Amino acid sequence: MKILVANLGSTSFKYCLFEGDESSLKPMTRGGYERVTDYAEVIRDALSKMKEGEFIESADEIDAVGFKTVLGLDKTGCVAADESVIADLRASADLAPAHNPAYANGIEQFSQVLPKARLVALYETAFYQWAAPASRRYAVPQSWFDAGVRRNGFHGASHKFIAERSAELLGRDDIADRVRGLYQEDRSQAFEPEKPLRIVSCHLGGSSSVTGILNGAAMDSSMGLSPQSGLPQNNRVGDLDSMAIGYAMRKLGLSLEEVERQLTKESGLLGLSGESNDIRDIWKAIEGGNENAALAIDSLVYSIRHYVGAYMLEMGGLDALVFTAGIGENDTEIRKRVCSGLEGLGLKLDLEQNTIRGKENTISAEDSAIKVFVIPANEELVVARETGRFLAHAVNA
Ligand code: AMP
Repeated sequence: MKILVANLGSTSFKYCLFEGDESSLKPMTRGGYERVTDYAEVIRDALSKMKEGEFIESADEIDAVGFKTVLGLDKTGCVAADESVIADLRASADLAPAHNPAYANGIEQFSQVLPKARLVALYETAFYQWAAPASRRYAVPQSWFDAGVRRNGFHGASHKFIAERSAELLGRDDIADRVRGLYQEDRSQAFEPEKPLRIVSCHLGGSSSVTGILNGAAMDSSMGLSPQSGLPQNNRVGDLDSMAIGYAMRKLGLSLEEVERQLTKESGLLGLSGESNDIRDIWKAIEGGNENAALAIDSLVYSIRHYVGAYMLEMGGLDALVFTAGIGENDTEIRKRVCSGLEGLGLKLDLEQNTIRGKENTISAEDSAIKVFVIPANEELVVARETGRFLAHAVNA
């Protein structure tokens, strides 16, 4: 099976070609283009490169193209990327302006350039579709909810991978199997394993979120209607009282567009530190005595712990805490601070193991009741796997 994963931005196109069966997909070749104006042209160019490199003999060998679509109004899950998906991406473009139009156009182009390939959309919101209504509903009037104002949750591909891998690491094959089939199996029956499995996954990178995972499915996430809420992001605000927007417009004389620009481009770690949106620069600024930079780190850690604690309570305990993505995999000090002072709750870090960066590892002490894992994110592989599972299910169904 050959699966092409297409990562589309407003002016960029990256791809990775995977080969193998659903459980053994391996990346064969990858590439990318910036400042794209004609998507059909770059897709054709990418296919020629795959032929030149002898990864494919003809474009017909590509069984499927997987897209990590962000948000739909009426759609979620892992589904055939058809006309209705394209229309829905366009209808919800207001909430994901950088991504939805790009995916709508990209899916259209691929359907023309590769008419024989199956096109599959894996929504970033997919992992949250079974979370309880109480966690998904804002306390807004019904008309707002009906218009789509609800807590969606994002980074679903990444957190689902953590759900699967952490269950494997904990020897819980019952849960790992469930996670693998999550988007294909019949979920009309309640699922209650003999022993619950409670995971909190911290995806900490340029964009960050914390997700609570109960028995393999998300029960809540720090990101809500859009990827704007939750933790302070690299340059996006994270949680903010809704009254702040009108207040800032009146008090600072800002237009709504300017408020939105500042909240999405000049806030988060950049806004707090006044220094940089990259945590590595913020650490350097702290060494230089920048107190705002220290506050940026403190706020990030505070916010991570806030959500970890909330989900731990809601799930009635915790079996594993997981760190993933650029900061989660590499920033040993953030991990240490998030885990500090939790011995009384049964979480003890192994400080030596915690110094290891960028690879899968158990960083909790042997006698820690709560395990702490570092699991590298690989979102392209997740899209390829879910696309493969979708195909296998579609063929067997
Ligand atoms: P991601 O969005 O997962 O690609 O993560 C990107 C972010 O991870 C960057 O903005 C950095 O803040 C952070 N990061 C990447 N490498 C390191 C590192 N070696 N140490 C600390 N932070 C890192």
